[in-house]
Amino acid sequence: MPRESKQAKQERTQHLIAGLKAAYPDAHCELDHSNALELLIATILSAQCTDKRVNLVTPGLFRKYPTAAAYAAASSAELEQMIKSTGFFRNKTKSIQAACRALVENHAGKVPQTMDALRALGGVGRKTANVVLGNAFNINCGVVVDTHVARLSGRLGLSAQKEPEKIELELMQLVPQDEWTLFSHLLIWHGRRRCFARNPDCPGCEIRKLCPRIGVKAPGR
Ligand code: SF4
Repeated sequence: MPRESKQAKQERTQHLIAGLKAAYPDAHCELDHSNALELLIATILSAQCTDKRVNLVTPGLFRKYPTAAAYAAASSAELEQMIKSTGFFRNKTKSIQAACRALVENHAGKVPQTMDALRALGGVGRKTANVVLGNAFNINCGVVVDTHVARLSGRLGLSAQKEPEKIELELMQLVPQDEWTLFSHLLIWHGRRRCFARNPDCPGCEIRKLCPRIGVKAPGR
């Protein structure tokens, strides 16, 4: 593919967004939650785990621990048992309890609405903070880069970077800020339903005409 100018890439990105919106008009966060605390907990649990698996665990968890204070005061062993099936349960328990203690001590139990305050909770990385800000508060502070967003950004020729934070910076240059949160959902939905890690369905792909298919060896159009 000939080298694409930044302006041409921005324009192509606009077309990609339009194509993905048409394909997935209902794209949204697939972690079940009804408030910012629940989303924070679900996002911590989603590391190295599918959203489906997290959604099996969270109804009982949210019933048992309805507040940050409840997580902070919980028995670690009990919490570990409840989230065991999501993997890395000891570390996740530590992250949840560290974050919830900080919420109780510094934020009256409420989830703060800035990147810096969320990162300062402990156990909360930039990706988790972006998920919470974008989906619980409608604040577009960054682009969530998970495994799907990273893979599709490469195949679509939007970023050749490998590290999530570098990919995020490049996507923030290409995508209008008011679409940062939605853009992640669109790529995640496409990654789950069409642009699979192995054997992407390029012949059936809604945006194939806009995709250089970088690194894809499977049969194309
Ligand atoms: S054309 Fe293929 S590689 Fe490109 S987005 Fe579609 S499924 Fe993915």
